[in-house]
Amino acid sequence: MDKSQIPALGIDLGGTKICAGLVINHTLTGETRRIPTPQGADNITKALLELIRHFQETNFIMGVGIATAGIVNPETGEVIGSTGNLPGWEGTPIKKLIQSRTALRCHVENDANAAAYGEFHAAHLEDRICTVTVTLGTGIGVGIVLNGKLYRGAHFAAGECGHIKISMDNRRRCTCNLWDCWEAYGSGRGLQATGWKLLEGLSPGQSSLVDKRDNLTTKDILEAAAEGDSVARQALEKWHEHVACGLVSLCHTLDPDAFVITGGMSKFIDYSTLRDMLADRTLPRVSEKLEIHPSILGEAAGMVGAADLVLDAAREAEGAAVL
Ligand SMILES: [Zn+2]
Repeated sequence: MDKSQIPALGIDLGGTKICAGLVINHTLTGETRRIPTPQGADNITKALLELIRHFQETNFIMGVGIATAGIVNPETGEVIGSTGNLPGWEGTPIKKLIQSRTALRCHVENDANAAAYGEFHAAHLEDRICTVTVTLGTGIGVGIVLNGKLYRGAHFAAGECGHIKISMDNRRRCTCNLWDCWEAYGSGRGLQATGWKLLEGLSPGQSSLVDKRDNLTTKDILEAAAEGDSVARQALEKWHEHVACGLVSLCHTLDPDAFVITGGMSKFIDYSTLRDMLADRTLPRVSEKLEIHPSILGEAAGMVGAADLVLDAAREAEGAAVL
């Protein structure tokens, strides 16, 4: 049997939904399942085991890769850092539970890291020294691939770049409770806050968004900008400035070959504007050959990357056994 054709199951565990699908050669194959995320660690574990059983009924699988929010120790497969959108999940020894109940190899990874690993392979960036994948969604997540391997840092918190401080003025409180983190400006939530700020003191004739001010959503701003509303357009331009601001810090820290931009908000990025902003705000040597790629895998990045990681671990273990 050609082992490269045996799939792994990739699972993306998010605050609202769990997605699962089989992956071969960095690509999803066959059915993808989505279920709402249940409340509490026991129920989440039960749901994960049911999903695994479902796919095992009709497939032989090499292992299970799980992408989850929070800081993860991939060696123990435990979530060790705060996961505001999965209450009670921290401390769950998920790898141990899955392995003992299914006898399958399991790898657990932070979701932004898993997405970064998936995109890195999907875009065939294997010959690059440093690739940084930025997930722009409700918050901001970052995954760093150095010389083909995920860089996780000394405490598994590398890539928590959503919490880079981009202002000293204590203007916006982040969900982490610190002030002026990148994600308080450059995420979907950040765009919404910028919209509120710009609408302060305006009267209804000045923007179609004034009437929506109390319940303003990111979608309202994006729709109004598409219709030509000048305040919404200004909010969107400022949002690009905010996204660029964090990327500039990453450029000067890591000197990457490439950024991959993914996440729900990434489709609203104007890449030519972003490229110009980075060229203006970085040292010439850093930005000259910098590549900026839109996501290839989209919402599937976490699933594919998590499955890639477990397949790589299985190959490595096999190689070690042969030696
Ligand atoms: Zn923060």
